[in-house]
Amino acid sequence: MPRERGEILRRAHDLLMARRPEPAALMTSEMGKPIAESLGEVAYAAEFFRRFAEEAVRIGGDYAVVPDGGSRFLVLRQPVGPCLLVTPWNFPMAMGTRKIGPAVAAGCTMVLKPAEQTPLSALAPAGMLREAGLPDGVLNVVSTTSPGELVGPLLRDGRLRKLSFTGSTEAGRLLLGQSADRVLRVSLELGGNAPFIVFADADLDAAVEGAMLAKMRTIGEACTAANRFSVQAPVAGEFVRRLTGRMASLSVGPGLDPGAQVGPLTDEAARQKVASLVSDAVGRGAVVRTGGGAVEGPGYFYPPTVLSGVTADARMRHEEIFGPVAPVTTFDTEEQVLGWANDTEHGLVAYVHTTGLDRGLRVSEALETGMVGLNRGVVSNPAAPFGGVKQSGLGREGGRAGIEEFLETKYVALGTP
Ligand code: NAP
Repeated sequence: MPRERGEILRRAHDLLMARRPEPAALMTSEMGKPIAESLGEVAYAAEFFRRFAEEAVRIGGDYAVVPDGGSRFLVLRQPVGPCLLVTPWNFPMAMGTRKIGPAVAAGCTMVLKPAEQTPLSALAPAGMLREAGLPDGVLNVVSTTSPGELVGPLLRDGRLRKLSFTGSTEAGRLLLGQSADRVLRVSLELGGNAPFIVFADADLDAAVEGAMLAKMRTIGEACTAANRFSVQAPVAGEFVRRLTGRMASLSVGPGLDPGAQVGPLTDEAARQKVASLVSDAVGRGAVVRTGGGAVEGPGYFYPPTVLSGVTADARMRHEEIFGPVAPVTTFDTEEQVLGWANDTEHGLVAYVHTTGLDRGLRVSEALETGMVGLNRGVVSNPAAPFGGVKQSGLGREGGRAGIEEFLETKYVALGTP
């Protein structure tokens, strides 16, 4: 029953919120983000349960008279069927609940395959759903160190109807191909390369605040992370000076240390990638304003870093940095910066700072992204449709659109009795 499904989700939301510190500590231990951010993610993750508890009882249908008046039809909304959910390690709880919430609300059964590095952060909310009354067998969490061996056979299984994947564009492309054989319904939330644009008329305090949020959430390891900063020439020097001050003042340390604002990157490979992108940019002429070097001691730490004068051919302007590095480039005209912003295969999110309403709307319309943060450094909101265009994904999660991904439409033509 829709009401029962909604109430299970609502109880699971309340359990997660009541026990927040425990799953937050688990998440920080697994992937390193500062404990304050993990507490924030638990609340964000729980909100998907509350949001879809409310959607579960609003799955409507339609009844219509055909245009010539000669007959009637019904439109039914039915669960899509058994789903495979595959999630990444960077938001290890919320990326799961953003799929589980609408799937349960719609009435689907599911297998969740969490990332290899963060299985416990996915199991915690699953356990609470069970406590909240979710029947055995509805949600099945299967962890593995051989993702292809688990996911491949599931995609070929005749019972599966849908794949919902969040992760890299590379893996998403591969799974989209594998889903073609059985023409599965597919939702993909993939990588980004977000531009962060500051016009000369921007409120600079707000722009620096927005930049810190857009860059440093989850130590920069976010699909929504600002990846390319472009600042209009008259304010570029001042923006870089203020951003450098803020980045240099952040304390780096183990995520469980309550004083730490920047935790370690997820593994040595991630740190190596960030370091190589920085040396590539510096080799092409970028200037290090802060950070840029190694952090002493054990752990995969990388210091908050600001680079200015980053050239168009620097690798970091074309690849996800996935670390605490802000590369800044100066631009002259709106046309020029829009050209740069859209010159990428990705299209997840863009950030724009301007006090001009006309310009804000014009640029938001011209950006080839699924989301825009206009004078705002965070766009994620369980009530809103999250997702990308181009090679950043297919479909939307959150809001009303989130449950649509787990529903099929059936039309019944009514003959006159
Ligand atoms: P990933 O390597 O693509 O992994 C994501 C998930 O896919 C993991 O569970 C992974 O399992 C699994 N996987 C990887 N290769 C597979 C294969 N050949 N067959 C079946 N499953 C496979 O991505 P990640 O490094 O975990 O996450 C970072 C990426 O996710 C970034 O690109 C980021 O932008 C993107 N992301 C996007 C969003 C969004 O909403 N658009 C949100 C968060 C993250 P293993 O863990 O075992 O490898």
